[in-house]
Amino acid sequence: MDFEHIPHAAPVPSATRDEALANPGFGTLFTDHMIVIDYDADRIGSEGDGWHSARVCPREPITLDPAAAVLHYAQEIFEGMKAYRQEDGGIALFRPEANARRFNASAERMAMPQLPEELFIESIRRLIAVDQDWFPTIEGGSLYLRPFMFASEAFLGVRPARQYKYLVIASPAGNYFKSGAPAVKIWVSSDYARAAPGGTGAAKTGGNYAASLVPQAEAIEKGCDQVVFLDAVEKKWIEELGGMNLFFVFDDGTVVTPPLTGTILPGITRDSLIRLLREEGLTVREEPYSIDQWRDDANSGRLVETMACGTAAVVTPVGTVAGRDGEFTIGSGGPGQLTTKLRDKLVGIQRGRVADTYDWMTQLS
Ligand SMILES: *Cc1c(COP(=O)(O)O)cnc(C)c1O
Repeated sequence: MDFEHIPHAAPVPSATRDEALANPGFGTLFTDHMIVIDYDADRIGSEGDGWHSARVCPREPITLDPAAAVLHYAQEIFEGMKAYRQEDGGIALFRPEANARRFNASAERMAMPQLPEELFIESIRRLIAVDQDWFPTIEGGSLYLRPFMFASEAFLGVRPARQYKYLVIASPAGNYFKSGAPAVKIWVSSDYARAAPGGTGAAKTGGNYAASLVPQAEAIEKGCDQVVFLDAVEKKWIEELGGMNLFFVFDDGTVVTPPLTGTILPGITRDSLIRLLREEGLTVREEPYSIDQWRDDANSGRLVETMACGTAAVVTPVGTVAGRDGEFTIGSGGPGQLTTKLRDKLVGIQRGRVADTYDWMTQLS
């Protein structure tokens, strides 16, 4: 598909941009351009697969009909990925084809059209090509990419929409947690669930996040950084944080992570860590792990580390767990050995400092 290129008439002046890039924070600073591709089911056939009018254009507000289906029935999905400036000055993406595949898996669950994987990756290439001066200069910085799709058809009946918009925006990012990778304190939610069997927990859709905001606010109120959700049925099995998967490390060299049964999000960082851990000679089991066992194992010392992982924060140690029945500490309460080692390895691969033996990186320039 051809992309029309509409350059920004008044991009952010380089001095202003460079100043902002010295302290980008997370999710508040945006580049000059965006990608837009439209979809119309009524064009399928002689005119192709429905996707049309691909463009790289100035980042600006989008107009929507007040009856746009997304505003009423939440047909929306997104991805989160990062482009990294390499040691040698080039730019590379981490496993973009995995994001493209997951985007389509989310689309399927939300009754939305499939976006060809090559088009997904090409859209990201195009945006980085026009906005490559927007990489943060600080250590640990990256360009966070947010591809998303929503139902734009003006229609109040309840059925899958016939028109959608796919966009990509980019946001320069520093370290997700301000001080690098301190251990986080997490709150076990007793009153709320994030996802139920048969629901949308495995899809990267905005509604899952909307459902997590009240429990996340409760976690903050209790002096914690993040919320951890239990399964919706027995309220017993650990699932994941609002946006990160969990790994439990034991003193006998085994590691447990909750299985992908449809209620948790299949993280690409999770999948990558499983491979790195197995390469380290550790036994990784994808099996249910209960909150009571977590407390007992932390107290007995059998559990030595717990790590949370996701694109934004990479690998983060969990130091303390608090809940209705009090709190417990994992290991020393600070970053554990394996957590630190894996984080360094993964970040090293992403930055081009450690050999990419899995062929995870896609070089863009
Ligand atoms: C995106 C996400 C993750 C992490 O996935 P990565 O591909 O590793 O970034 C974990 N949990 C939820 C709910 C998510 O939305």
